[in-house]
Formats: sequence, structure tokens, C-alpha cells
Amino acid sequence: MTHRILIVEDEPSIAELIAINLSHAGYEVQKALQTDVASNMMRDELPNLLILDWMLPGKSGVQFARELRSNERTRSLPILMLTAKSEESDKVLGLDSGADDYVTKPFSPKELVARVKALLRRQIPLEGDGPLAVGPLRLDPVSHRVSAVWPNSDPQTLSLGPTEFRLLQFMMANPERVHSREGLLDKVWGNEVYIEERTVDVHIKRLRAALSPADCDRYVETVRGSGYRITKTPTQT
Ligand code: CA
Repeated sequence: MTHRILIVEDEPSIAELIAINLSHAGYEVQKALQTDVASNMMRDELPNLLILDWMLPGKSGVQFARELRSNERTRSLPILMLTAKSEESDKVLGLDSGADDYVTKPFSPKELVARVKALLRRQIPLEGDGPLAVGPLRLDPVSHRVSAVWPNSDPQTLSLGPTEFRLLQFMMANPERVHSREGLLDKVWGNEVYIEERTVDVHIKRLRAALSPADCDRYVETVRGSGYRITKTPTQT
């Protein structure tokens, strides 16, 4: 299957550079100069991955990423954010907005293609595809749904980005155990050379934020000096 990638970038020379490199790598490529054009292109069919520039005329990439994450149809669309900003705080903001990965301009086309490949690989489901339950949390890998089930109330569906989903799936499949950042990178990100251990913290933060509307964030515990675990008996109530 050929993966289709939509590039939202207002500088034609950069869009073209990315498009050429991705086509050479065997991807089908679409380009949009701004987000409203991209929205139209995604109306009938979603791409497999979105490359999104931060600074765009009209709606910014960060705003657009937030919108996509809050929409049921687009919430699990992988997003690679592209930007000239390189401050650490900007990086965190980019990831917080819902991007799955981040590339700073000027970038090497080779690195960009490697990151696209890695991000698409992460879409492949983890081993063991059965539904999972830990405490009130339920995860169904087939429907890609996460919900919280509390006694005497209706199940509450939770909205997770693709990386958070995978992170939760891995931890729920291996509950009560402490997972180091390094271990999580290996299992969830698949040993991507460009990802730093700190990225795990950012995604744990996003995972907790996604679980908090159902009061489930406390089920993801930080084990000081070691890493993270999911437990059915959280110490914090
Ligand atoms: Ca731009």
C-alpha cells in the first residue's frame, strides 16, 4: 500500500524539497499552502500522515494540530511538525499541541524521510491485539477506542493521539510493572534514533491530560528515578 502524505507549508521551495524527497522514497504526496486548503483536501479522504509547518498565513500549524486532535475523525492522524523555532519551550509547545514529532528548519531531507518512516511504522499495531482493561480503563485496539468505566455511570470515551494510544496500549498490556524511558522508547517508538528520552515525559504528560476528564490520569504513575507504570491501585486518590 502506498502511503499518502499531505504537506502543509507556505514556502513553495521547502514544500517542493520535501515533496521530491518523499516521492523518491515511494510516497504519494499532496501539497497545501495553508490549513483551509488542507482541510478541503482531507474532506473526502484522510492522508496517512500530515507534515505541518508551524508558521502559516491564517491559522497556525499549532492551532490546526489542536483542532485535528480534538476532532474524532482526525484525532489519530500522525502529525510531523515543521518549524524554524528551535527553543526547547517551543518544542514542548509543538508536541503539546498534538504533534507526534518535530523537525526544526533547516533540516536534512534524509532525516525528515527517516522520521516520516518511523512515524508511519508506529501506526502498525503492537503485538497482542486483544481488548485491555486496567482499573476503570478499557482499550480496544481494533476500534482504536479508549474509555473509562466507572460503577453506576455510562462509559466515557476518551480522546487520545496516536502516540499516546500506543503508549497506553503497551503499558496496559504490561500493567503494574515499572517501564523505564529507554524501555518505552524501544517498545513504543521502536528504537528511533532521533527521539530523546525526554520525549517520553512529554507524551506521558499528554496521556495524563487525555485521561483526566474521566479522572483516570492518576492510574499512570511516575516511579521516581525509574520510569512509569500503570496500576489498578493508584496510591494517589
Ligand atoms: Ca512557514
